[in-house]
Amino acid sequence: MANDQFPDYLNVYYKRLFPYTQFHKWLSYGNGNPENFTNREFSFTLHEDIYIRFQSFNTLQEFEAEIQNRCPFKIDIGAVFNMSPKVCRNYPQFHAMEKELVIDIDMTDYDTVRTCCSGADVCQKCWRFMVIAVKILECSLRDDFGWNHLLWVFSGRRGIHCWICDESARKLSPSERGAVIDYLSVLTAGESKRYNVNHPFIRRSIAIINEEFDNLNLEQNFLETSEQCNKILSFINDEKLKEQINIQFSKYQNSPQRWEALTLVIQNNHKRGLLNYKTKFCVEDILLYLAYPRLDVNVTKGLNHLLKSPFCVHPKTGKVCIPINPKVIDKFNPNAVPTINVLIDEINDYDKKQKEIVNDANMSINRLKDYKKTSMLKSISIFEEFLRNLENSWKGNKIKISDAKMDF
Ligand SMILES: [Zn+2]
Repeated sequence: MANDQFPDYLNVYYKRLFPYTQFHKWLSYGNGNPENFTNREFSFTLHEDIYIRFQSFNTLQEFEAEIQNRCPFKIDIGAVFNMSPKVCRNYPQFHAMEKELVIDIDMTDYDTVRTCCSGADVCQKCWRFMVIAVKILECSLRDDFGWNHLLWVFSGRRGIHCWICDESARKLSPSERGAVIDYLSVLTAGESKRYNVNHPFIRRSIAIINEEFDNLNLEQNFLETSEQCNKILSFINDEKLKEQINIQFSKYQNSPQRWEALTLVIQNNHKRGLLNYKTKFCVEDILLYLAYPRLDVNVTKGLNHLLKSPFCVHPKTGKVCIPINPKVIDKFNPNAVPTINVLIDEINDYDKKQKEIVNDANMSINRLKDYKKTSMLKSISIFEEFLRNLENSWKGNKIKISDAKMDF
């Protein structure tokens, strides 16, 4: 897509495809408290990088009209404030009340370990790092923290966002958010630290990495060059053991064979009781270093941190930030995500065919919603399923409240 066409496509996208109703339903959280939506900060990045913060909207109609009018290149979502951001942002009492807990994983943070691509590029091979990240976080957020309403979104280029929307998560203070992300951040800036491998969370994470590791190693060739081998050997704090592994490395050329040799040497030493506290878990240390999720800590910590909205369109790639189903994350192909020009072509193709059929058969036209004519249908269904689960929890809450009243 040519750059100069982007605003025109975006215009059509906001008129015909952006799911305003579902979006408004999400951020209203059950209508019990209209401020959830009306006091929410949105920020827009307009044409030529003009950035406007503290936008807010009283109704769905106002939101929709403003988006279509401004046609923002990027929409960010901020916190829910104690008063209207648009009107009261300069009041001394103005402050953020709550926000979804968000997690941001960016492929560039894997540049120290991935070998297939670097920078903004991403392919199916390095996507496997994301698969591992989503599996580990899904388990922990649901089982360790008990959260159920997780919205996973492709960031439009090379990463993933997770919006944790349970009420208890939305109400966390910045220091509580810090505690959650500290728990989840096993790696700091991609470097290794000593892990408590016996912790159930770390053990489970290692098991998830192990399931994917052979394929990952086959694709990434972690042990191909001597530089890579030395980096891996640096996790082994015992010169004799290092030497034994190095001898094995010199016998083999490819990464899977070298990995197998390394684990065999460790196992043999383990069986003979030759591993000490420093070397006992070196395989686990290496697995965590290579494949544990890299999390952007600051995005999660800040109550006031803005994050790109789902269903935004990435201005460089033209790809829509679509919700993704974590259960089939391994089937997701970031390079197959629809771009807005493809989506608009799909609508036009559908309409053209429909017109021909209607003319031939003398039928009345079938008024299908535009997104149903496109490959965005699947991601909107994922979003709607997420909303249905949220709605069920609101209904549950209402029943709880009315039960509590009955008790009096
Ligand atoms: Zn890649």
